[in-house]
Amino acid sequence: MKKSRVQNRLRLLSAYLAGRSQVDSYPITVIIENTGRCNLACPMCPRNLTQYPPKDFDLELFKRIVDEIRDASELVFPWGLGEPLLNPDVFRMIRYCRDAGLYTVLSTNATLLDEERSRLLIEAGLDHLIIAFDGATRGLRTVSEECEIRESPEEHSALSGGQERTGGRGFRRPPDGTPAG
Ligand code: SF4
Repeated sequence: MKKSRVQNRLRLLSAYLAGRSQVDSYPITVIIENTGRCNLACPMCPRNLTQYPPKDFDLELFKRIVDEIRDASELVFPWGLGEPLLNPDVFRMIRYCRDAGLYTVLSTNATLLDEERSRLLIEAGLDHLIIAFDGATRGLRTVSEECEIRESPEEHSALSGGQERTGGRGFRRPPDGTPAG
């Protein structure tokens, strides 16, 4: 691990042990919600409690944040309460983090996870993918009418197929605290 990241962790630990609420360190994990849009309307989603602007996060601003945190932080989640694959810049965002030595985690409802996007995610260097389902049967999932749910296992195997075509590139070992997915 980079010396600057170790120092950042020590600053965080020191602030914790001293009970300080203000710290002069960077967060280990940074969440940047890359879009306010979603193609589903799940009844349990906190999006139902407020209006989300149908906008994507600006790529240049994303890069500036990554430039600022790259030496101290360790993990970036380029998603929040929205479907991250709706933002066409998501692959560039992941690539930028990868080039900065930051571990990336993406969570998707998988409705847009076709073979092409799977390949692009792998080529961008995504480290950890969470596929979020409400349940395993159609009856347990609630989707908006414009969303197509794919039922066949073959269609859901696009990611593993993409891995084969990109040379079987594996996933990096996650830093501590990465969600199990
Ligand atoms: S897919 Fe996720 S973000 Fe979109 S409505 Fe469902 S729970 Fe919310």
